[in-house]
Amino acid sequence: MIEPILTIVVPCYNEEEVLPETIFELNNLLIDLVNERLVSNRSRLLFVDDGSKDETWQIIYKEGLRKEHVHGLKLSRNVGHQNALLAGVFTAKDYSDCVISIDADLQDDIQVIREFIQKFTEGNEIVYGVRKCRETDTFFKRFTAQGFYKLMSKMGVDLVYNHADFRLMSRRAISELERYREANLFLRGIVPLIGFQSTKVFYDRKIRKAGQTKYPLKKMLAFAFDGITSFSVTPIRAVLLIGLVSFFVSLMFGGYFLTLKFFGETQTGWTSLITSIWLIGGLQLIAIGLIGEYVGKIYKESKHRPKYSIDIDTFSLAMPGHLKKKAKLEEELFLFNQLKDASERK
Ligand code: UDP
Ligand code: MG
Repeated sequence: MIEPILTIVVPCYNEEEVLPETIFELNNLLIDLVNERLVSNRSRLLFVDDGSKDETWQIIYKEGLRKEHVHGLKLSRNVGHQNALLAGVFTAKDYSDCVISIDADLQDDIQVIREFIQKFTEGNEIVYGVRKCRETDTFFKRFTAQGFYKLMSKMGVDLVYNHADFRLMSRRAISELERYREANLFLRGIVPLIGFQSTKVFYDRKIRKAGQTKYPLKKMLAFAFDGITSFSVTPIRAVLLIGLVSFFVSLMFGGYFLTLKFFGETQTGWTSLITSIWLIGGLQLIAIGLIGEYVGKIYKESKHRPKYSIDIDTFSLAMPGHLKKKAKLEEELFLFNQLKDASERK
């Protein structure tokens, strides 16, 4: 049997503190895998610099000059974890039989990559890395993350429990993923929709090796909210339900107050009036805001903007004549040399 060509895609945003170690460890692992004849020696590591403001790209670039397997993709600006990951996966697709995505902070156990490959050769198109437990997380993160999965499943979104973006996808699965053209791409929800044969591999997640999490509470909430609203209309239905209930309740109250009026027992009724104004006003604002969120999503979708722009791509460059048109190649080669000169002058 011939060994599959593997590409490991690593999105990196301001990861200068942890990146040298990540590159070192992943590179060693890849060399081991090649020596064990588990993967082809044309396998690669692809580090995607998601518009970092620190030395991340310089590190990737320099290591790329030194290490045969290391390649980099520099995005023109910060586009977020999900899009950076897509940029890497789609770039890698044409040259790889399978692609594994993993975070730059080495929280996920890279040793299970072996098992990923094995499951792939057994015929699985998608392999999910699933965390056994969340002991290494802070209580807060564990609590919110688990709440998120529960909420999602209540809303009818099919997620793999405790699976983040550590997964293997075959070239065929990625081609299918490419056909999901939505701008609001929530990968963890989309990948299970592809529906090819898949399996799970369990592992223990460690604490971040170095650097800070790029997902503070605010971003985490935004991520969760995005996930829900790009997959489910349950919130809009809930609003409709609340609206209906309060409508009928107010009808009942109306009837009650009218009978009071006919029997001459009218009250000035300031309290009930003011409370209902605030209540209904509040409900309306929530409803409009929520619907606005969905309209906003439609707005984003309708523009068909590209999800990312690649500035420099040393991955495709390493394979000249493969896919790139010659002019494009030369243009990139020019940039590449410019940067090389700059880094040598340093
Ligand atoms: N990341 C990215 N772009 C961003 C934010 C994060 O590419 O805008 C990367 C980051 O470098 C890391 C991964 O996404 O490799 C996950 O981020 P992090 O480890 O901070 O998230 P956590 O594990 O704390 O949820
Ligand atoms: Mg992390």
